[in-house]
Amino acid sequence: MTTTTDANDASSTTDLVDELTAWLETNWDPEITVGEWWQRLGLAGWSAPLLPTHAYGRGLARNDAVKVGETIGDFGALSAPGGLGLLLAAPTIATHGTQEQIDLFVREIVTGVKGWCQLFSEPGAGSDLAGLTCKAIEDGDEFVITGQKVWTSLGQYADLGMLIARTNVEVPKHQGISYFAFDMHQPGVEVRGLREMTGHAMFNEVFMEECRVHKDALIGGLNNGWAVTNTTLMHERSGLGSGGGSAHGGLAIPGAVADNLGRRAGDFVRSTDKPKRRSSGGGGAAFGASAKLFIDLAKGNGTVADPTIRQDLMRLYTIGELGRFNNLRVKAAKAAGKEIKGMPNIAKLSMSEMTRLSRDVGLAILGASGMLHAYTDDQRAAVDQATGNPFGGMVTGMALFAQGPSIYGGTDQIQKNIIGERVLGLPKEANTDKTARFSELPKNA
Ligand SMILES: Cc1cc2nc3c(=O)[nH]c(=O)nc-3n(C[C@H](O)[C@H](O)[C@H](O)COP(=O)(O)OP(=O)(O)OC[C@H]3O[C@@H](n4cnc5c(N)ncnc54)[C@H](O)[C@@H]3O)c2cc1C
Repeated sequence: MTTTTDANDASSTTDLVDELTAWLETNWDPEITVGEWWQRLGLAGWSAPLLPTHAYGRGLARNDAVKVGETIGDFGALSAPGGLGLLLAAPTIATHGTQEQIDLFVREIVTGVKGWCQLFSEPGAGSDLAGLTCKAIEDGDEFVITGQKVWTSLGQYADLGMLIARTNVEVPKHQGISYFAFDMHQPGVEVRGLREMTGHAMFNEVFMEECRVHKDALIGGLNNGWAVTNTTLMHERSGLGSGGGSAHGGLAIPGAVADNLGRRAGDFVRSTDKPKRRSSGGGGAAFGASAKLFIDLAKGNGTVADPTIRQDLMRLYTIGELGRFNNLRVKAAKAAGKEIKGMPNIAKLSMSEMTRLSRDVGLAILGASGMLHAYTDDQRAAVDQATGNPFGGMVTGMALFAQGPSIYGGTDQIQKNIIGERVLGLPKEANTDKTARFSELPKNA
């Protein structure tokens, strides 16, 4: 049965797709450069449609924004500039930044001019992020930054970083943090790559020695960084969880470092006659369409007849559907001016679950050939030929990466703590961390 709400949703989504398709027919041109294309897309509000209109967006709900991304892909145009700028920095600055900061930073994100990374985690501050020790000391119109960050995804391509640093040690730890837009191309910054078992080197360590950031790049006010950080984390959890605005927006990489902006836009669009190989690097979009992908794989090699594989495929499909319904609930609540507490945390937990299940069912479908993983293009071609399955590498890549989603953006255990304490109202663990001065807290040696 179709309810009135469903019917309204369907017709508004159809209008949106029609409007975007008409816009793409006029504006998409594979011959222009990536930079020109992203200018058109970003300034028309299609790169980050979730954002409000004063921040280069269209104020859409998350599932409509996901539809926008799918429509651009289906049309055969280059997708929006992906990465952590679009996923995290833009919505955070749109919420806490001044209009000047929005017009500088968000504009350069939606048009792909600058690439961003997230400079949050430190060797001694992950789950306990507010325990960070990277310091920012005021010096006239600037702050001097010294410290180390770790697990910095895509830091090697970043022009700017969302940096959180300690600006006051004489107040409780959550109250002495500030949030900056940090220039990665300056003396004193060293980015060192870390290789993962997938074969990729997505992560980095970032060392900062007496670096500088101007006060104009302080987002959300001095010592108010924890509130700003929570906005970033909320977008990380809900964005990755729903597949909306993944860190992998397209094949072209935004920013000056990757040097893709001057190249022909059409060269970054996959040809439709080749099988679509999804990225195995991470991000919700890589898993969003999991059920369909794995059902097709299982049909392709006959394992769909195996009852345990069928059962896991159904579970995968069910989790995906629950995520879709939850997105609709959030959309309806937002339209009524309400909020459903804990949804970003639930979305993130669902993605972790979906990733682990994708790993298990994917490897079960592949059978013995799931033990072969390719680390280079040449190896990939050899494995594809030996197995006759062009998706094998994608499945093994996903399997090797599957540990990641239950850790980044706050581990599964931390999501459960948040739901327990802030949504269900369960008692918090007793400690003095939130009231004692940071300078008086015990530190790791
Ligand atoms: C793929 C990936 C990408 C990442 N990208 C970035 C990035 O771009 N930028 C960035 O800043 N960081 C990034 N991170 C780092 C990530 O945010 C941290 O790894 C994460 O917050 C956990 O911190 P930790 O590794 O220090 O683990 P710890 O905090 O040391 O946790 C270790 C274990 O203890 C558990 N634990 C800790 N505290 C509690 C508690 N109070 N209750 C219950 N259990 C608890 C945790 O759940 C975990 O199982 C990334 C991580 C991954 C895996």
